[in-house]
Amino acid sequence: MSAAEQAEYEVIVVGAGAAGLMAAIQSADRGRRTLLLEKNARPGLKILISGGGRCNLTTTKTGKALEAEYGKQRGRWLLHALRAFQPKDLVRMIEAAGVPLREEDLDKIFPCSGKARDVLDAILNLAASKAVDLRTTAAMDSVEGEPRGAGFLVHSADASFRGESLILATGGLSYPKTGSTGDGYRVAKQFGHRIIPGVPHLAPLAIEAAWVHALAGIVLQHSSLAVADKATGEVLCRRQRPILFTHKGLSGPAAMDLAGFVEENPRECELVLDFLPMLKREALEADWLLRSKHSGRARISSLLPRELPERLRQSLCELAGVAFATKGPRRPLTIAELEKKGRQSLLDCVKNLRISVSRSLGMDHAEVTRGGVPLDEVDPRTMESRIRPGLYLCGEILDVDGPIGGFNFQAAFATGRLAGLNA
Ligand SMILES: Cc1cc2nc3c(=O)[nH]c(=O)nc-3n(C[C@H](O)[C@H](O)[C@H](O)COP(=O)(O)OP(=O)(O)OC[C@H]3O[C@@H](n4cnc5c(N)ncnc54)[C@H](O)[C@@H]3O)c2cc1C
Repeated sequence: MSAAEQAEYEVIVVGAGAAGLMAAIQSADRGRRTLLLEKNARPGLKILISGGGRCNLTTTKTGKALEAEYGKQRGRWLLHALRAFQPKDLVRMIEAAGVPLREEDLDKIFPCSGKARDVLDAILNLAASKAVDLRTTAAMDSVEGEPRGAGFLVHSADASFRGESLILATGGLSYPKTGSTGDGYRVAKQFGHRIIPGVPHLAPLAIEAAWVHALAGIVLQHSSLAVADKATGEVLCRRQRPILFTHKGLSGPAAMDLAGFVEENPRECELVLDFLPMLKREALEADWLLRSKHSGRARISSLLPRELPERLRQSLCELAGVAFATKGPRRPLTIAELEKKGRQSLLDCVKNLRISVSRSLGMDHAEVTRGGVPLDEVDPRTMESRIRPGLYLCGEILDVDGPIGGFNFQAAFATGRLAGLNA
């Protein structure tokens, strides 16, 4: 290989997603000669498609409440990155780059324009202003570590690049069409890292039950959804956020937040739905008993509050076996005809409905990957590998993930920043 084909850099960043762009901007801002390699023709594809094309950039949550969203251990590991670069710092950075932001429901921050494109353009302009050498359609094919930790040689199809430090920001395995196909895992492994096998997270849940499919289109704003280990009953995660019924199962933030827990649990799981979490079972039953005295001739489905759509109320009565008279011609049962057994069965369906679940819709539909490079192998203050000096890892390649709500970009930008400041 000729010397001309082997360009020299101080820092080579692989992957121009949120983490890699941020790492490259910080590194170049320190005056480090920085190369950013991206395999796609266009950088930042996930930023473009995020939040339904609107980019839920970050959250208004702060401090311990923010850290807790990533789970106990991952949150503790992330706290250095999150405290050094808080959501408000990300907001300041993007607004200073000319994109006004605003808060929406569930503590989410979006660009006022509603265009993810504006966020990506602002970040790309920042990278250009810092003289980041961004090469697109330039996939890292392989990496050689120089002896005695002296640097790295990164090979792409038609060129090689030498760098003192290497930052892997290649993402995980989710939405592989955007470029994240696990290439970084291979290189991390080559340098001695373990890889926790990735499972889809933040993906819709596949449910077999036909009654769920029949309710496609219904959105519940205030119901509660949990995932439990079927054998032990242990609740693995509970969410009280919007739920959407679909032709394939359940989606919406609550369902998607549970995907990784279903996928990583080796045993069978079940979903536990409480349609009216703000009402205690006893209070609901007392109300029904009272109403059976006053409006006994009404249909049983009218016992259920109107905030639940009619189609759902009817389905719950059918699931409980109390929708229709069991004897004589088919006719709806009335409230007065609801006996104790039927009442308990309906209460179970409304407050504690159990649905078998074994998988999500998979990586093609997952917003993030759960798994990746184990956190104990990476220094949380610098993002440097504890195994190979000079190697840095940031963003979704790490075994870190948060729920829907801007938490994944926040983690990617914050860890990318630390990598760029230290590489
Ligand atoms: C549909 C969807 C919607 C989402 N919405 C939101 C949201 O609104 N808010 C939020 O916080 N999170 C959201 N996420 C999650 C968020 O996009 C990710 O957490 C975040 O993009 C991870 O950033 P990253 O830089 O680590 O990885 P990625 O964004 O995956 O970037 C990795 C980059 O590395 C490149 N690459 C991979 N291998 C190579 C190689 N060999 N050589 C060169 N380049 C390579 C890829 O092409 C890619 O550009 C969403 C994800 C999806 C899929």
